[in-house]
Amino acid sequence: MTQLAIHNPATGALITEVAADDAASVAAKSLQARAAQPRWAALPLAERQACITRFRAAIVAELEPLAAIMTRETGKPIQMSRNELNGLLGRIDFFLAEVSASTATQTVFNEGGMTEQIEHTPLGVVANISAWNYPWFVGGNVFIPALLSGNAVLYKPSEYAAMTGLAIARLLHAAGVPQDVFVPLIGGGAVGAALLEQKVDGLFFTGSYATGAKIAQAMGPRMVKLQLELGGKDPTYVCEDANPQTAAESLADGAMYNTGQSCCSVERIYVHEKIYDAFVAAFVATVQGFKLGDPMANDTYIGAITRAPQLDVLDAQVVDAQAKGATLLLGGKRGPGPGNWYEPTVFSHVNHDMELMREESFGPLIGIQKVSSDTEAVKLMNDTRYGLTAGVFTPDEARAKALLAQVKAGSVYWNCCDRVSPRLPWSGYGDSGVGLTLSTYGIQTFTRPKAWHLRKP
Ligand code: NAD
Repeated sequence: MTQLAIHNPATGALITEVAADDAASVAAKSLQARAAQPRWAALPLAERQACITRFRAAIVAELEPLAAIMTRETGKPIQMSRNELNGLLGRIDFFLAEVSASTATQTVFNEGGMTEQIEHTPLGVVANISAWNYPWFVGGNVFIPALLSGNAVLYKPSEYAAMTGLAIARLLHAAGVPQDVFVPLIGGGAVGAALLEQKVDGLFFTGSYATGAKIAQAMGPRMVKLQLELGGKDPTYVCEDANPQTAAESLADGAMYNTGQSCCSVERIYVHEKIYDAFVAAFVATVQGFKLGDPMANDTYIGAITRAPQLDVLDAQVVDAQAKGATLLLGGKRGPGPGNWYEPTVFSHVNHDMELMREESFGPLIGIQKVSSDTEAVKLMNDTRYGLTAGVFTPDEARAKALLAQVKAGSVYWNCCDRVSPRLPWSGYGDSGVGLTLSTYGIQTFTRPKAWHLRKP
């Protein structure tokens, strides 16, 4: 077996090496999962629910060490690691409460001796290839409902969150999920690619558009259920009747939370010209209050950049914006090493010729563009190949709803941003992907609705 080296992105230091998978072990483990899945699916739902309930209790019991593991390997500020784990508990509670009704057989017609029913059978063995930025959230959105509804899961955590992936497996196994029913596969892109070669009944991916496109190409002829949750370039429009201070505080948090490394980070801001200057001043002042530093410190707000290559993406967007006439108000450069650091960066007077208004930054970098009308704002919000989330700030509910109805995004926000709810479906338009997680649809997506036509003799 090969080894995967895990480094702390805040210091560059080697944390540990863990045993990694290879093509042969991926193939063997997927056969074991195939053999084990029918027994898991045959258990009464209450037994699978009991396992996930014990998993939840274990997270509560180990919350501090689990948060520390995630912070050490990803550079996520420790308070945000705690927030993610606490937020996961609400998602688990939602899935536990809804799985029974969502997967129960439904009688949809019953007349004249003819009965029609929909049965939700598990897909079978599903692959879950996951991202590092919210490893508990994006993994849990898949493996928790998939396990509850009777599937075996081949789980490939990101190589940048492998210790968290192993912790998830340890807790699920201790909670009673058999080793062959939840199977962690450790490694980078090659292990993910090896997983695509296996016989699976569903592939659920969270990550970048570039990798998602490769996966779609590889899986295309396979006729396997495919879900791809990809990146975004999420816009918000601040109308002239909004309070610039309140909007700036909310949007600065939406842009910089998790060091800007959220799929639903605010990535573009449009502000009506009447309040542009006031908004920009309040935004910069808010960001100046964010403390950058040791991710293990309780008061740190800006942590490390998890993947070193992202520093080059941020540098390139800064150089491009400056060359095209944007005004740099804050940051614009890397922080001192060792480790991967980038100063929170704010540009005003940006436009759509600039990369930072078109391509995902995935870091603490934001552009604020002046607009003169609602029509212009909607046009710019829709001028993107992505469509994950979008928002509008205004006290006028009717105006917000009319604007958001015109925006092509999977989730839309009135006077809020960077928000995910277990009760609502999470999906995207365009290059933000296909399929969905969360909500009751995000439970049923791990089942195959089987149609029963039953005529009494
Ligand atoms: P990534 O695409 O680099 O990696 C994602 C996963 O794919 C990793 O586990 C990686 O090892 C694996 N992988 C890489 N090459 C592969 C291949 N050829 N075949 C199979 N698997 C392969 O993405 P990332 O850096 O981990 O995550 C950041 C991206 O994820 C951002 O674009 C972000 O917006 C997106 N994201 C989206 C959502 C969402 O819900 N839409 C949530 C979180 C993150």
